[in-house]
Amino acid sequence: MKVTLPKEVKSVVVELEKHGFEAYVVGGCVRDMFLGREPEDWDVATSAKPEEVQKIFPDNFYENKFFTVTVRTKSQDPKLKEIEVTSYRSDLRYGDRRHPEEVEYAKTIEEDLARRDFTVNAIALRLAPLAQGKPPYKIVDPFDGRKDLKAKLIRAVGAPEARFQEDALRMMRGVRFCATLGFQLEQETKEAIAKNAPLLQEISQERIRDEFVKVIMAEKATEGVETLRDLGPLAFIIPELAEGYGVTQNKHHIYTVWEHNLLSLAYAVKQKWSFEIRLASLLHDVGKPRVKKGEGKDSTFYGHEVVGARLAKQILSRLKFPQKTIEKIVTLVRYHLFYYNVGEVTATSIRRLVKNVGPESVEELLQVRMADRIGSGVPKAEPYKLRHLRYLIDKVAQDPITPKMLKIKGDDVMSILGIGPGPQVGWILDALLAAVLEDPKKNEEDVLTEYVKELGGLPEEKLRAISKKAQEERENVETKRDEMTKQKYWIT
Ligand code: ATP
Ligand code: MG
Repeated sequence: MKVTLPKEVKSVVVELEKHGFEAYVVGGCVRDMFLGREPEDWDVATSAKPEEVQKIFPDNFYENKFFTVTVRTKSQDPKLKEIEVTSYRSDLRYGDRRHPEEVEYAKTIEEDLARRDFTVNAIALRLAPLAQGKPPYKIVDPFDGRKDLKAKLIRAVGAPEARFQEDALRMMRGVRFCATLGFQLEQETKEAIAKNAPLLQEISQERIRDEFVKVIMAEKATEGVETLRDLGPLAFIIPELAEGYGVTQNKHHIYTVWEHNLLSLAYAVKQKWSFEIRLASLLHDVGKPRVKKGEGKDSTFYGHEVVGARLAKQILSRLKFPQKTIEKIVTLVRYHLFYYNVGEVTATSIRRLVKNVGPESVEELLQVRMADRIGSGVPKAEPYKLRHLRYLIDKVAQDPITPKMLKIKGDDVMSILGIGPGPQVGWILDALLAAVLEDPKKNEEDVLTEYVKELGGLPEEKLRAISKKAQEERENVETKRDEMTKQKYWIT
């Protein structure tokens, strides 16, 4: 392993040691260094008490976390801005299976490592003593974490069942580490999850949500979600999703609802899309099991998008996602079925779709649709059709070219010239529009007023001819604009 500690981390460790305390780099960052991955954040364990840590690093905060002082560094890197320094501790009695009721200082790093969740997360690295340069580092690994790293195994520290009974969230963490690292659950750990999954009912929805999001953001997200279902936790996270397991579909589908949902997620993961798109892809057919009518190749799922949107709203609200996230995903589920065929769909229905989904979410709806399609086992995401749809969406979003774009209106023309309504007003507006199309800078009240006066002095025949030419000009501009939009989307 190559130990390359960022200077911010090194300086925290060195300072602690200079003051006569032990200090280890510990947890996920050590695991990630062994794996050659970039750590998400850096944790330090120390024999110093929180008050002592605070004294050494005045720029700190100490709240909400047992014995953990967060030290602020001068780094701009979000991963290094704050370093968590936790005093050696051991956790005693978890009455609520969430938070240890009592936390006690531990004397040694070994004791501290024993309260951690998995062997691969219970390795500590000491640069002891850095000041003297040698030995470069010392590894403390009482649970053979390095062996499990090699074997790619997630194994609970100590007795798995007891550890999950202390904090049930660890079951989800275990699955999450498998999904992010490409590891497997060690057999006994796996059995303990299968047996204790219902304990997740005692965990707060916020913690469950954060862990679930980490699972679907992982490289092996679908394996993670599948494991959560297979071993039981999913029934206590999103039971509605588990309902799709084994639900067969009609002649248009080769996969069950569950398989299809997972394959849709897989595509969103492959594309590295946002967690919202991943969730929407996973949930887009969540309504199907409840609306299924009949069996076999003629079964139907009418209204599943409406029921699905309602379920998605319940699920996401229960998991306490922010309101904006809920609205977005619910909308994506609600409209994922939109119909589109080149030449068959009118501009009006596209306009309605854009209005329903919101212009800012149209691209995301297309992403969910692609995930849906690929997840059905259809090999292509229909590139031409999608490009054509994008073109139409762009086109209906463009402002129409009409005299309404002008800074002055028909009423202004009449009052400038002191005339009443009549075709002359329309001809003048046509002429103004042509002038502005040629040079947008002319769309100013005073410039246009001058031009109106000029046009008002022309004989009717002349004005009529100018207007006719102006209309042709406008059509040309429209055609050109449409051609450019088409080119933008590579369609003919
Ligand atoms: P990552 O930061 O990549 O998500 P991590 O392993 O660093 O993963 P953190 O949540 O940052 O996870 O926690 C840091 C360390 O604290 C872990 O490696 C583990 O040793 C310990 N830890 C965190 N949560 C728990 C828990 N619920 N039970 C026991 N130990 C835990
Ligand atoms: Mg971490």
